[in-house]
Amino acid sequence: ESLDKGLEKTKTSFFDQLSKAVVGKSTVDEEVLDDLESVLVHADVGIDTTVKVIDRIEKRVARDKYVGTSELDRILREEIADLLQKNDSGSTAVLERADREDSGGQPFVIMVVGVNGVGKTTTIGKLAHRFHSAGKKVVLGAADTFRAAAVDQLIIWGQRVGVPVISHGMNTDPASVAYDAVKKGVEMQADVVIIDTAGRLHNKVNLMNELSKIKRVMQKVIPDAPHEVLLVLDGSTGQNAFLQAKEFTKATEVSALAITKLDGTAKGGVVIGISDQLNVPVRYIGVGEKMTDLQLFDRRTFVDSLFS
Ligand code: GDP
Repeated sequence: ESLDKGLEKTKTSFFDQLSKAVVGKSTVDEEVLDDLESVLVHADVGIDTTVKVIDRIEKRVARDKYVGTSELDRILREEIADLLQKNDSGSTAVLERADREDSGGQPFVIMVVGVNGVGKTTTIGKLAHRFHSAGKKVVLGAADTFRAAAVDQLIIWGQRVGVPVISHGMNTDPASVAYDAVKKGVEMQADVVIIDTAGRLHNKVNLMNELSKIKRVMQKVIPDAPHEVLLVLDGSTGQNAFLQAKEFTKATEVSALAITKLDGTAKGGVVIGISDQLNVPVRYIGVGEKMTDLQLFDRRTFVDSLFS
C-alpha cells in the first residue's frame, strides 16, 4: 500500500519547509533546530510531541558532535518512528483481524464513534468493504439516528459494498438499532458487526450516557461486546482533531483510531502528535472518498512517506 498520493500535501509542505530550514547550512545547529521546530508545529504535529522530537535530535547532535543537514531527513524519520513505537500494536491487531475467534465464536463487534462530518459513515463503508473483500460476513447498524442523512448514507454504503444494514429510521432509539444489528449478526453467523453512533460532543453527559446505553444493550446479546471502539477523527482539522480525541477518550473507552481526510491537507503531522500523546493506537487512515481509500496505519510507512 503506497501512501505517497494520500499524503502528498503534507509531504510537499514538509519537504519545502525542511529544505528552507537547511538551505545554505551543512550542519544541524541551534538555528536549524529552531527552524525544524516550526516546521513540525506548522505541520500540526502539536507542541508537546514537537518538543520531544527536537529534544531527541538535540541529544543526538550533542552526542555525535557533527551531524550534517543531509542526514536530517533520516534522523527525523528514525526519531519519529521510534517515538511512535509504543502505540504501535502491529499488523495483527484484533480490529484488523475482526475474527470470531477473538470474540468467543460470536461476531466481532465494532462500535464507531466520532462527531458529525469527520467521515464516520464513509469510514464504516470503507471498513465494510475491507472486511467484505477479505471474505468476511459483515452487518452494519445505523445507530446514528439523529440525522436522516447518516442513516440514508449508511444504507447507500451497504448497497454499494453488498452488506446488510439494520436500520429503524431517523429518531429511533439508537440502542435498539444496535441490539437488532448485533442479534442479526449472531443469526447470520456474521464475522463482523459495525455500529454507527451519533457523536454530539457538545453534550458530553448525553454522549456518555448514550454510548454506555448502546453498549449495555448489545451486551444482552454478546456479553463482551463491543470488542473495539473505533474513534474517527478528521485529520484536516489538525489540532482540533487532537482536542476531540482527548474529549472522546474521556467520554468512553476508545480502543483504536481512524484519522480521515489526510489526502486534502498539509496537516498530516497531526497523526504523529495524536499517536504520541494518546494511549490509543492509530489503526486506519483515510486518504480519499473512495471505498478503497482506507489504509492500515503503519508508523514506518507513514513516516517514510512524509520524508522521502
Ligand atoms: P460523518 O458525518 O462523520 O458520517 O461524515 P461522512 O462520512 O458523511 O463524510 C463527510 C464528508 O467527508 C463526505 O463528503 C466524505 O466523502 C468526506 N470524506 C470522508 N473521508 C474522507 C477522506 O479520507 N478523504 C476525503 N478527501 N474525504 C473524505
